[in-house]
Amino acid sequence: MNLNSILKFVVLQIIFCIFLLLSVLEINLIAAPKSYPYKVTTTVGMVGDIVKNIVGEKGKVKNIIGEGVDPHIYRATRNDVFELLRADIVFYSGLMLEGKMGDALIKVAMKKPVYAVTQLVNEKFLLQPTEFDGQYDPHLWMDVSAWMMAVKAVVNKLAKYDPQNEDYYIKKGKKYLSSLKRLHKYGLKSISSIPKEKRVLITAHDAFNYFGRAYSIQVKGIQGLSTESEAGLKDINNIVDEVVKRNIKAVFVETSVSSKNVKAIIEGAKARGKKVIIGGVLFSDAMGNPGTYEGTYIGMLDHNITVITRSLGGQAPSLGMNGKLSKSSRKH
Ligand code: ZN
Repeated sequence: MNLNSILKFVVLQIIFCIFLLLSVLEINLIAAPKSYPYKVTTTVGMVGDIVKNIVGEKGKVKNIIGEGVDPHIYRATRNDVFELLRADIVFYSGLMLEGKMGDALIKVAMKKPVYAVTQLVNEKFLLQPTEFDGQYDPHLWMDVSAWMMAVKAVVNKLAKYDPQNEDYYIKKGKKYLSSLKRLHKYGLKSISSIPKEKRVLITAHDAFNYFGRAYSIQVKGIQGLSTESEAGLKDINNIVDEVVKRNIKAVFVETSVSSKNVKAIIEGAKARGKKVIIGGVLFSDAMGNPGTYEGTYIGMLDHNITVITRSLGGQAPSLGMNGKLSKSSRKH
């Protein structure tokens, strides 16, 4: 390539970047509701639910990835792409949680406002575990106080998108945030009632780092940060060692991840003469069934906090913070 063609190439790249910038600016300038309720599309339930709480009757929220489904390996179907393209505004979780949906989201972002709620939160609240090669941990919703920042970001973005209803979104946000504040306090109180030496949470995959940081409980995920990596025999043996040494009574399974590795821990401990039980089924990357209390963000966290606390020897009401937990939660 001679100097002339290099120059030409650079100029073309610059023109392309300016064009891209202008088109993004234009999208943001012209984006505003044409009618009510406008269409909002979200990816995972934890995002869909907070958006629903803020948008109220002004928008209709359609969530793509359902209950019990693992977002790390979920690929957008043709129908999902259609839903994304039909939306007026899109919210997703981000930090590579929806790792296989990246292309679809980038395509949609060229045409309409698309926001990753975790990327709207100040970076200093994000965890970057060393074992994950510089990537952020995406499971931010596990710390209610951090998810409250995502809620504030949603309020801001909706107020910008639909400025004539700014007060409405702010009011809705205040009300919802006060319930989340109560939930966070309930988490702090419940988990701290577990005797300190028993405060260890062993789960199927690494979804609970933020939970551990927020509520002061040590966390061990058998599988890596994404469910795409398989847990090796060595990792399983290391956790069995820990379980036996610390006399840990319960380990936990998750609704959206295979329980194979958790069962291997129980078998491994049994072979060494220790009885370990499944303390309960936790909601990690997906919420419970739609229409149930556990199918909301508050119900999901209330369930997790209550089940973990009671299974590890702490004090929490069997029906949870709001007396609304279902039978399957109460068993544990
Ligand atoms: Zn996960």
